[in-house]
Amino acid sequence: MTDLEVSSIQVIDENKVFNSHLADYMKQFYSQNNSNDEKGLNYHIVSVFGSQSTGKSTLLNHLFHTKFDIMDESQRQQTTKGIWLAHANHIANSSEDGEFANNTKNIFVMDVEGTDGRERGEDQDFERKAALFALSTSEILIINIWEHQVGLYQGANMGLLRTVFEVNLSLFAKNKQRCLLLFVIRDHVGNTSLESLSDVLTLDLQNIWSQLSKPEGTEGFELDDFFDLKFVALAHKLLQPDKFVEDISVLGDKFISDDQLFNEGYHRAIPIDGWSMYAEQVWEQIETNQDLDLPTQQILVARFRCDEISSQVYESFHEQFVKSNWEDLSFAELGNLLKELRQNTAQQYDVLAGRYTESVYLQRKKLLVQKVDLSILEVYNSVLQKLIKQSKDLYLKEIESALIKKEAGVVFSQVLDNAERESLKYFSENTALISFVDIDDSEAKSYDPSPRLGELEEELSILRTELVNKEQENIKTRIPKKFKSQFKFIVQDELSNIKPSSWEELLDQFRQVSDKQLAKYKSSDSYDFHLGLSKEKNKELLDQVLIKFWIKFKEILNNFVTETNVLRLLVSKFEDEFRYDEEGLPVVWKNSSEIDVKFAKARNSALDMLPLFSLAHTAEGEILPDFDIAHDETEADSDNGEDDGFRESHKFAHLLSARDQDAIRHKFKKQTDALYVETKRSVINSKTE
Ligand code: GDP
Ligand code: MG
Repeated sequence: MTDLEVSSIQVIDENKVFNSHLADYMKQFYSQNNSNDEKGLNYHIVSVFGSQSTGKSTLLNHLFHTKFDIMDESQRQQTTKGIWLAHANHIANSSEDGEFANNTKNIFVMDVEGTDGRERGEDQDFERKAALFALSTSEILIINIWEHQVGLYQGANMGLLRTVFEVNLSLFAKNKQRCLLLFVIRDHVGNTSLESLSDVLTLDLQNIWSQLSKPEGTEGFELDDFFDLKFVALAHKLLQPDKFVEDISVLGDKFISDDQLFNEGYHRAIPIDGWSMYAEQVWEQIETNQDLDLPTQQILVARFRCDEISSQVYESFHEQFVKSNWEDLSFAELGNLLKELRQNTAQQYDVLAGRYTESVYLQRKKLLVQKVDLSILEVYNSVLQKLIKQSKDLYLKEIESALIKKEAGVVFSQVLDNAERESLKYFSENTALISFVDIDDSEAKSYDPSPRLGELEEELSILRTELVNKEQENIKTRIPKKFKSQFKFIVQDELSNIKPSSWEELLDQFRQVSDKQLAKYKSSDSYDFHLGLSKEKNKELLDQVLIKFWIKFKEILNNFVTETNVLRLLVSKFEDEFRYDEEGLPVVWKNSSEIDVKFAKARNSALDMLPLFSLAHTAEGEILPDFDIAHDETEADSDNGEDDGFRESHKFAHLLSARDQDAIRHKFKKQTDALYVETKRSVINSKTE
């Protein structure tokens, strides 16, 4: 389509087909981001209507400098088929004579095929539909008649006007759409004043109006509820050419003026980029003979256009979105980019779609934003997810390095507190960088980071519980182990020289070593293991440690008080007493009866130790642990498999059974007897030598 600026376009052809290229034609006359016309309403549609060959096209071409076909005088046949549209190039006026484009109002003119049906025979259908179309889409309908037709009902197309009025009532009754009927009286000779011609025409129109069969509910409407009437007369083009041109200029002035002909109430309020679609819808309804419901048409157009704009805007969003490289961006850059993409998309939509029916525009906007948010939230959430992971890692790293450093005076629960503070700080600071808090639309709640903060807090609390549990287990193992390694030697020393007061002594030592191990956890009357545990939990842990102490005590005893060990100690005691005198010097036997006395004494005193080993007891009776340790025995984490036999002696104090004692006594007797015989023999030998 070249040379469109000067040419016209056929909107509807002789076969009543709507031209699909109309949208392209219209596009030349608006730019989508025209800041002077944000609403896209700076345009006007003017149509002409009247008998065939009454100089309509001639009028338009003179007035608007269009190039509609004009009937060739010599052939006298219909030229303009269908409905044509042209953007006015120049509007004739009385103040200038130049022909530069002065159509700042964007007036579009529609030339409608004549109404005589000369060429179409009796086919009035097209004319009726064309008139309806013009009426439904135009702000000003020019009705072109010869002066001599005024008052002649048939000649002035009054019959068609009647039909148009009727249909118009059902069309416009709902929204009371107004329209200007501009009568242009041609070949005005001047004998009859314009005023009286106007009166005659007005009267005619009112007569027609009163005789209309009005649809139900519209009976009370008057002609001027819908139409404003204006009248203009033009001189005879051929007889008074100069006057004709002058009259045209005066009429042009009226079109240029803001308030002489145009009126905001006439405008259909369809943004210019939607007009071709609107016109097509209207034509389709006229063609299919459906009731023309214009408000519904406007909403339909709004839906179409808002959808179109939405997908166009979404496409450009998507293009930018997929080519963005999120990986390489800092949190702040990423946040800004996401916000910018989201806002730009909404803004672009607002500029283009904000001009359409508000409810439709807003509803489609919501859908668009939701769609955009699907993509943006995916990135946003994965960033938050990454932040949660990083914050968790930071938490663990902080704890690890604090525990390695082991700063003096810093206790476990403080280490956890500090790490938690650092972790949450890291999360909040970075979340603030990509934050969407300044977004104020209804969808923004999806960007609220506080649920994710809650998620992190929960994960940290789980980690904390795990760490505290681990540390509790650690304490339950570590402290008793240390206890055992210290206490073991005390027990071994004491029992190696066992005496009646030994158990009293060991019990005392047991308490002392226990207290020493727990000293750093003691505060006034209770214990705190610095894990942030409650008083009850601390007490529980203390008891578990103490139970372990008793178990360790028992383990040490079991390991030491064995048949072999006790036998060895008994024999060694016996030998000490039998072989050495009070000064610790080896005894030199004088006679064998001396041997008997000393042997019996040493043996008794060694055997006296056996009950001391067998039962751990003080003056108050057998030693009873502060806790029932019997059911803890299996848990006892013996360092090696030394605790065999532990099960048999459930009771803490019972170290050697009667059978063990008998066996020891038996072996002891055998060994001492052998010593006795050997000693006796050596004395006899020395005497015989
Ligand atoms: P349309 O069919 O209504 O569009 O009429 P045209 O513009 O094609 O004109 C039809 C014929 O009327 C042409 O031969 C024109 O020269 C002639 N014509 C145009 N304007 C006037 C006018 O003001 N007075 C007279 N008498 N003839 C005119
Ligand atoms: Mg014509």
